[in-house]
Amino acid sequence: MNKGVADLLRGRYPDAVRSIQLSEWTTWQVGGPAIAIVVSSRGMLSDLLGILRQEGLSWFLLGRGSNILASDNGCSEIIIRLAGDLASVRWEHSGSGWRLSCGGGTRFPSLSGVACSKGASGLAFAIGIPGTVGGAIFMNAGAYGSSISDMLTEVDVVDSEGNERVIRNTECGFSYRSSRFQREALIVTGAKFLLKEADPAELRSEARRILQLRRDKFPLEYPNAGSVFRRPFEGPPPGKLIEDSGLKGRAVGGAMVSEKHANFIVNNGHASSSDILNLMNVVREEVLRKSGILLKEEIRYLG
Ligand SMILES: Cc1cc2nc3c(=O)[nH]c(=O)nc-3n(C[C@H](O)[C@H](O)[C@H](O)COP(=O)(O)OP(=O)(O)OC[C@H]3O[C@@H](n4cnc5c(N)ncnc54)[C@H](O)[C@@H]3O)c2cc1C
Repeated sequence: MNKGVADLLRGRYPDAVRSIQLSEWTTWQVGGPAIAIVVSSRGMLSDLLGILRQEGLSWFLLGRGSNILASDNGCSEIIIRLAGDLASVRWEHSGSGWRLSCGGGTRFPSLSGVACSKGASGLAFAIGIPGTVGGAIFMNAGAYGSSISDMLTEVDVVDSEGNERVIRNTECGFSYRSSRFQREALIVTGAKFLLKEADPAELRSEARRILQLRRDKFPLEYPNAGSVFRRPFEGPPPGKLIEDSGLKGRAVGGAMVSEKHANFIVNNGHASSSDILNLMNVVREEVLRKSGILLKEEIRYLG
């Protein structure tokens, strides 16, 4: 990036601009250098988007980087992360349930934990999904038969021109791990949910049960990015296809197909982004050769 622009951004937002390694901002823990800005209000976001547009700079909205493969060379996009007002949470008791409003940068598992403790049902499934609410809406994240689209009522967005809009659930184009946000440059700044009242003790116990299931099933002891490949429309899930292709334990450099869950690629401590990418290609080719099914990735690329 042009040094003048970096200086301009630092001059305008002295406490918010960071020189980062993407390996520290993604759960796979790979990726090179980038400039990031931690944005704490809608006003600051509109102002920033205006400057980036004027300077002809592109941007990338990064949540917790839990579904991202970031390049070893880093990226030229300015990384935007939401915090402050854009990660705040408001609860309102209403009739037989709760109205929940939160910022797009809110941590999804923490929100799930608080919801269970309050007796607000519907978010227990999210207890082990290590992203933000914005990232979860973008991905239509889900687990154990529920997804974020089930109890979401509306989404606040800002477009690349800095205009704010409210999008109702039915206009979000949700389907399996997909939403309109994957096709349009919209930043999710906030979300509203309607949650039914339930017994907090039961919800907490459900959340504990889900966490235990996930610990038993997933290789959480290594850096990873969750499921690498999407579930095909029909046929066996990717984990089964990969396992049946004899790929459990297959490694490229420091990247390895998990022995515990074959749709997870783990970083053994010294993986590069290229190791992961090359291993994904090996898996895709081998599964296609053995089963005739072409796997499509669920993870997103940066840089
Ligand atoms: C151990 C582990 C377990 C996981 N389990 C699950 C699971 O059970 N179910 C599941 O669905 N996923 C799972 N995931 C994947 C991942 O956690 C989810 O997809 C999550 O919703 C991504 O959120 P994030 O904030 O990390 O987004 P990121 O990974 O940072 O970004 C993902 C995409 O969302 C976009 N994005 C992020 N925030 C916003 C925003 N505010 N506005 C617009 N776009 C935005 C980014 O630009 C990017 O394109 C798992 C991941 C890990 C590491």
